[in-house]
Amino acid sequence: DTVYLNGEYMPLADAKIPVLDRGFLFGDGVYEVIPAYAGRLFRFEDHIVRLNNSLREIRLDLHKTVAEWQAIFQPLLDSGKDEYIYLQITRGCAPKRDHGFPEHVVPTVFAMCSEIKPFPGRVTGVKAVTLDDTRWQKCHVKATALLAHLLLRQEALDQDCAEAILVRNGYVTEGAASNLFAVIDDELITPPNSNEILPGITRDVILELAAANGIACKEDVIAVEALKNASEIWVTSSTREIVPVIELDGQLVGPGKPGPVFQKTDQLLQAYKQSLA
Ligand code: PLP
Repeated sequence: DTVYLNGEYMPLADAKIPVLDRGFLFGDGVYEVIPAYAGRLFRFEDHIVRLNNSLREIRLDLHKTVAEWQAIFQPLLDSGKDEYIYLQITRGCAPKRDHGFPEHVVPTVFAMCSEIKPFPGRVTGVKAVTLDDTRWQKCHVKATALLAHLLLRQEALDQDCAEAILVRNGYVTEGAASNLFAVIDDELITPPNSNEILPGITRDVILELAAANGIACKEDVIAVEALKNASEIWVTSSTREIVPVIELDGQLVGPGKPGPVFQKTDQLLQAYKQSLA
């Protein structure tokens, strides 16, 4: 359980952050979750591009090359396992608690590696519930301030559902910690990237695989009423991959089991992972 903190490797139990760190006080930071299959970081450059975008959006000056990040993460990885790197960068530790950005403060950089446990719902499908999207207007930033996401996910769990599917102005945006796909009239649809969703790397991979393999697919808005008539609904993320939703708001989705477009796309995704590992 070796982790990385501010230039050093140490046991997790020894990794300590001062209480004045702005990540602790304000959630003033960003993060990334990067899968690594058999020790190889998956779509690594895409994750670093998204990280740099998050850093720019919160005006946090920290520049490392892809090779520098790679050198930091590599010692944490085990080539015999499927794992993910959790990377968190905060604005650092200022001399006092003050909302305004501190000057001359060094960002805190923390990384740890965890095993990816196969998510059972990936095979069987899960239940989901639609909830009002109460998050802020910068959902494209992978910010560590996740309180709205946590409340939404917990509300879903309290209703015996695995995920909340979020609704803004009558249209679905994404899951509380996932992107959303639906099959409507035999076409795979996912909402377009905007400030209302996180640009998921898994989402990108699925769009590429669909386009390359003759699966009719488009990026388009999805009204919540249209979602209720979808023949398939999936939520996607790096650690859970593609998870079919078989029940939405207590109603079966299609016949209530993972559908054929899911089966095909999941096979393509597994083959793609193998080809890169
Ligand atoms: N949307 C949100 C809000 C997320 O938290 C996540 C990841 O956890 C995703 C989408 C999926 O992104 P990715 O496929 O890059 O893991």
